[in-house]
Amino acid sequence: MSRFAKSPWLIHYDASSCNGCDIEVLACLTPKFDVERLGVVNTGNPKHADIFLVTGAVNEQSREVIRNIYHQLPEPKVVVAVGVCASSGGIFAECYNIAGGVDGVIPVDVYVPGCAARPEAIIDGVVQALDVLERKQKEMTALANSLDKALFQRATKADAPEILALQKIAYQSEAEIYGEDSLPAQQQTLAELEADFESVPDMAKPFGWDGPLPVPVGPAQIVFLKAVVNGKIIGSVRGYQLGDTVCLRRLSVHPYFWRRGIGRQLVRELEAAFPAAKRFEIFTGRESSRSLGHFRKLGYQEFATTQFNPKVTWVYMQKDRA
Ligand code: SF4
Repeated sequence: MSRFAKSPWLIHYDASSCNGCDIEVLACLTPKFDVERLGVVNTGNPKHADIFLVTGAVNEQSREVIRNIYHQLPEPKVVVAVGVCASSGGIFAECYNIAGGVDGVIPVDVYVPGCAARPEAIIDGVVQALDVLERKQKEMTALANSLDKALFQRATKADAPEILALQKIAYQSEAEIYGEDSLPAQQQTLAELEADFESVPDMAKPFGWDGPLPVPVGPAQIVFLKAVVNGKIIGSVRGYQLGDTVCLRRLSVHPYFWRRGIGRQLVRELEAAFPAAKRFEIFTGRESSRSLGHFRKLGYQEFATTQFNPKVTWVYMQKDRA
């Protein structure tokens, strides 16, 4: 590891620990070990943190909290599972209310052994996390410097796990706008996304469509696109043609690459993939000013709204083929 350019900030969350590991984390912060003298800062705000330190196993109550905190950390970020409970469920693994280790919910980069994990091991885990963070930073910078080489290609079902992970990151800001995680893009499962490659989901119907969805749908009616840089998917969009209309859905661009033209190019490529379509339609949330502005710039105009739930109103936008 070379010199790290900034002090790493970390956020600590107790997922359901017996408090043994938490006390050792506190020991790292108090005068005996005093990690602040090494520049490590413990913050309470995930948006300020680089490292997510989790103690304890995952249960039903902590699962969503872990996911929420994780998605709020800016990229690049590193997750450290502290102690055997966070690593695998530990002595609680067989309990009726325990789902296992943290890696069942979010990707974990560093595992710190021990029950309880000793302060020296925790500090060692944070040092390993710095290594990972530095590598991820270099990868992100390399990706950002290679955007002019981005490839816009058809995605396949094999890309579904990577697209789903990207979608959840990309839609996190929308979830924050509305203060809830019930948005369909956030809730979608891998099985549902894989099914989208083969059949048109209900939410993809054009506004006002009251007919049944055609089953089966031919491959010409479903297109999944991905934007790839250095082998990594940084953007995706899918489109379905029903009648003369193509419904664009789930435009997702990794937040690190926003305002670099990736979303614009994905939309253009998708429109071009349906030469017979006469009309294009999207919907987004009424409070999502960034998305609304983005689609207006691409020639889309609002024409209808529907209430999704008490907090969220969808705004439908359309564009005729020029
Ligand atoms: S690893 Fe041991 S000390 Fe840490 S939370 Fe689990 S049971 Fe407690």
